[in-house]
Amino acid sequence: AKGAGRNQLCFFDPALQAETVERALLVRDLRQAVDNDEFKLFYQPIVDTHREVKGVEALLRWFHPKHGMVPPDRFIPLAEQTGLILPIGQWVLETACAQLAAWQQDMQRKEWTIAVNVSGRQLNQTSFVGLLRRVLQKTGAPANRLRLELTESVLQDNVESTIAKMNELCELGVRFSLDDFGTGYSSLSYLKRLPLEQLKVDKSFIDDIFEDSCDAAIARTIVALAQSLEIGVVAEGVETPEQMKWLVENGCQLFQGFLFSRPVAPEELAASPIKLSS
Ligand code: C2E
Ligand code: CA
Ligand code: CA
Ligand code: CA
Repeated sequence: AKGAGRNQLCFFDPALQAETVERALLVRDLRQAVDNDEFKLFYQPIVDTHREVKGVEALLRWFHPKHGMVPPDRFIPLAEQTGLILPIGQWVLETACAQLAAWQQDMQRKEWTIAVNVSGRQLNQTSFVGLLRRVLQKTGAPANRLRLELTESVLQDNVESTIAKMNELCELGVRFSLDDFGTGYSSLSYLKRLPLEQLKVDKSFIDDIFEDSCDAAIARTIVALAQSLEIGVVAEGVETPEQMKWLVENGCQLFQGFLFSRPVAPEELAASPIKLSS
């Protein structure tokens, strides 16, 4: 009887119920969002030490007809849980590749890369290599300008087949970044076996480099690790000139963050971010 009481209490918890209903409604709307053309890709520049744009990261935005812009942290987890990340992720790849193809006619943007976030569930679908091959063919995008950003979580299970798939994708010409590096569980021993072009130092380490000597040590170590593996490294979430200066002094050469630009619609992308006096 006690147990039943607890269950009832749980069932009628109004806050929990509101959350469940809200979630169900969002999932319902998410199912329609691709067809209703509610997604847009925003792009955030990745710059070098001279603040020259080298590429961009594609970041998904959902413009819900009633709620306005729903942040990705709210709907990407739902998309992953429901499998909707597969059609949504395909739309992201098609849109980013179409953008890459269009930039081939644009002298200022021809050399830019586009990094696309790919979730583990997407990478693990059996048809992913074929899907990407078709998207590249259909759009005419240069594969060597496409970067796929994976997080360490894709290495949680079946590392061997993940490595094999990454190698197959490399043969198409695309390259890989390991995103949010340092926040996950990846074993350093896998790192040298993965075909990676670069590591991305997670924003959480950059945030506190001046307040937290541990975070500073971690950021410095990740940069050094990338150097010794002879791969690139991008610092994420750079917000101040002091952070950039510190990163440059510690050997980092690529930067992404609000200091340079927020993610913006493609029509708002400047060829070079506005230089702040620093
Ligand atoms: P992420 O891949 O780590 O992307 C970087 C996030 O940091 C973006 O948030 C970006 O707007 C934010 N950011 C960049 N620089 C700064 C900064 O200087 N300060 C602050 N405060 N934030 C900064 P966003 O766009 O909200 O995306 C959140 C996450 O959603 C992404 O994290 C990524 O995991 C996921 N996501 C976004 N688009 C896609 C997508 O197309 N597919 C998948 N699977 N996931 C996506
Ligand atoms: Ca990313
Ligand atoms: Ca990241
Ligand atoms: Ca993140």
